[in-house]
Formats: sequence, structure tokens, C-alpha cells
Amino acid sequence: MRENFQLTQPLAAPRSATKRILIVEDNALNMKLLRDVLEAYGYETITTGEGMEGVILACEHQPDLILMDIQLPDISGYDAVRQLKGHPPTRTIPVVAVTAFAMSGDERKALMSGCDAYLPKPISLRDFIGVVERFIGAAGGAAGGLR
Ligand code: MN
Repeated sequence: MRENFQLTQPLAAPRSATKRILIVEDNALNMKLLRDVLEAYGYETITTGEGMEGVILACEHQPDLILMDIQLPDISGYDAVRQLKGHPPTRTIPVVAVTAFAMSGDERKALMSGCDAYLPKPISLRDFIGVVERFIGAAGGAAGGLR
């Protein structure tokens, strides 16, 4: 790496100071809720309704956190997480599963597939922001916007 370093190349991909969260969610209302709350708290969001696109966007944008719905139109959220966690560029990005599956065993399945945490729907906004901040801190390092 270092041997190939050239001054004409940037040192690293430009990285904004604001923390970015990738939301993978195919339900438009849920997506809007998650995005609106996160943006109100000062996070930047990247969004998609499909699992494979989520994997690709995670590689491209290197978000600080990924919120992963489980029921998606193409691959399942579990499969998307397995891909993310098996791929060095995205392996260390924390993934929080957000799922309407309220059946027992789902949390275990989510954690088995590599998710770092699990939030059942319907989401309590206080719990939701609490989990986000536990993983990546407040959006700009300052205190959250709505409290
Ligand atoms: Mn879904």
C-alpha cells in the first residue's frame, strides 16, 4: 500500500464528520419514520429497499451503522448481514436488525447471522435512538437534537 502511495491520490475517501446510517427497509412508511427520526437527531442517511443494494451501498459509502429490515423483496436481511459480515470492507460496520417478526427465535437468528443488535417492531423511538447512540454516539459528537 504505502509503496504505491502517490500525492496525486487522496489520502482516504472523503469522510464527513456527520455520522452516516444506511437504512435497508422496503416499507415506505417505516423507512420514512426511521429516516425522519435519524435526520432530526442530525445523522445523515442512505436508504434502499433492497438487500443486495444495501450490501453494495455499504461497500461504497462505508456508513457508521446499518439498520437492516429482515423481510426484504430480494434477499433476506439475514442473508444481507451474512454478506456484510463476510466481506472485509464492511465486516466491522455494526448492523442492527429491525424486524416485524415478533416470534421467539428471531432475535437469536438475527444475532446468529451476524447482527450486532436486534430491535423488534413496533419500534420505541427512545429505544431506537438509544441503540443507535450506544453503537456510534450522537450524530455530530454534540448532544442529541430533540432532548
Ligand atoms: Mn420489510
